[in-house]
Amino acid sequence: MYLPDFEYHAPESIAEACQLLAQYGERAKVISGGTDLLVKMKHGVLAPEVLVSLKNLDQLKKIEYVPGKGVVIGARATHNEIVNSEILHKKYLSVSEAAHQMAANQVRNAGTIGGNICNAVPSADLPPILIALNAKVKVVGVNGERTFDLEEIFVGPGKTNLAQDEIITEVIIPDQETTGSTYIKFGLRRAGALAVVGVAVAVKVVNNIIEDARVVLGAVAPVPMRAKEAEKFLKGKEVSDEVLAEAGVIASRECKPISDIRASEEYRRDMVRVFTKRALRKAIDNGHV
Ligand SMILES: Cc1cc2nc3c(=O)[nH]c(=O)nc-3n(C[C@H](O)[C@H](O)[C@H](O)COP(=O)(O)OP(=O)(O)OC[C@H]3O[C@@H](n4cnc5c(N)ncnc54)[C@H](O)[C@@H]3O)c2cc1C
Repeated sequence: MYLPDFEYHAPESIAEACQLLAQYGERAKVISGGTDLLVKMKHGVLAPEVLVSLKNLDQLKKIEYVPGKGVVIGARATHNEIVNSEILHKKYLSVSEAAHQMAANQVRNAGTIGGNICNAVPSADLPPILIALNAKVKVVGVNGERTFDLEEIFVGPGKTNLAQDEIITEVIIPDQETTGSTYIKFGLRRAGALAVVGVAVAVKVVNNIIEDARVVLGAVAPVPMRAKEAEKFLKGKEVSDEVLAEAGVIASRECKPISDIRASEEYRRDMVRVFTKRALRKAIDNGHV
């Protein structure tokens, strides 16, 4: 399988990258790690005439803590940089753990957080845990920048609300009072498989009372979805196996899975029930964010 011909640009600034995207319009695509895009091009699913690479934009590689803002992850941070980040280990270990559950080492060395988000695949592993942690995205285009809740970026399978000239520059996980979080994934193999169901939770539990809970489901709706009824049910409840199990039942009712080659709708729904309870228990017991 050969790549089709394309024109290649590797701009030295974010402004120049946005300018090129505006100039070439629909004919151009951003390339970051290329793990999704190049596969699609080789299979003839996409044939952009122009690729605008982010490879020279080292400012998009940072993972840092900014007091008052939170943990800032540059869009070009790779999955393995997220796996190994000391800042994330200290602040949000669950994000590193989610990245570790993705693909194989080679793909984790090249694939980036920005690409994982913009690819907008319903089974993507990073969006659920980031949404559970209330993450924001910063997006820059020719007309300026905007920052908004990550969950708003997804509009359908493979579709984001980004304009043609916009690129994600940062993912920001704001400071929060969460006392535990986790992402667990069910795939058809022990490693290197896409999620059949992914469940991320972030909880705030004080004196065994659930003061707040965010439950986010992957691979069971066109976009990563908050299980808002389950979240509402959990708030104010005392932690018990019965309460966590009931939250799983509610989440399984709320999700909107399809049947496909990897699992039936019914199976996915049941996995949401089981995994929501399990993720809640793990997040509460671990007591680390
Ligand atoms: C063998 C294999 C296994 C995989 N396993 C998993 C898995 O377990 N879990 C999982 O979630 N994914 C998996 N993936 C998918 C993929 O590796 C990830 O989605 C990866 O994070 C994509 O990042 P990238 O930098 O390679 O994106 P690219 O391929 O460079 O780009 C993907 C899309 O995002 C756009 N884009 C990239 N960066 C930006 C940006 N900053 N701003 C705007 N648009 C941008 C591109 O234009 C393109 O449309 C797998 C892929 C392969 C090939």
